Amino acid sequence: MDAEKIEHFRGILMKQLRQHTQNVRESQASALEMVAADDGVKDSVDMSLQDVNQEIQLRLGERESQIVADIDQALLRIDEGSYGECARCGKLIPEKRLEAVPTARYDAECQTFIEQRDGTDDAPTL
Ligand SMILES: [Zn+2]
Repeated sequence: MDAEKIEHFRGILMKQLRQHTQNVRESQASALEMVAADDGVKDSVDMSLQDVNQEIQLRLGERESQIVADIDQALLRIDEGSYGECARCGKLIPEKRLEAVPTARYDAECQTFIEQRDGTDDAPTL
């Protein structure tokens, strides 16, 4: 991939990184606020609803943290010069796919193979 393209994807990834880092902070802040608001509330219905909301915020935070980790990995691959190459077969990942999923580690073929193999990978697919 030429330098100009790499810079293009780096730009996208940096923007997404900022955005998702912000999301992580907000999710964590919301979850913490709920913990703080927990004080002295004894109504069991409110309590359980609060627990559910808190759980949702924590999960969102985890998911966002995972996305941030994926973006970090992609930026690392840019630095290493391996960005845009399939981590399984070494072929170049089509740019169209990278535009849609800039953190993609595999081409569509390998992604499908991996998903079928472990069945638990919830990474975005095309
Ligand atoms: Zn591949």
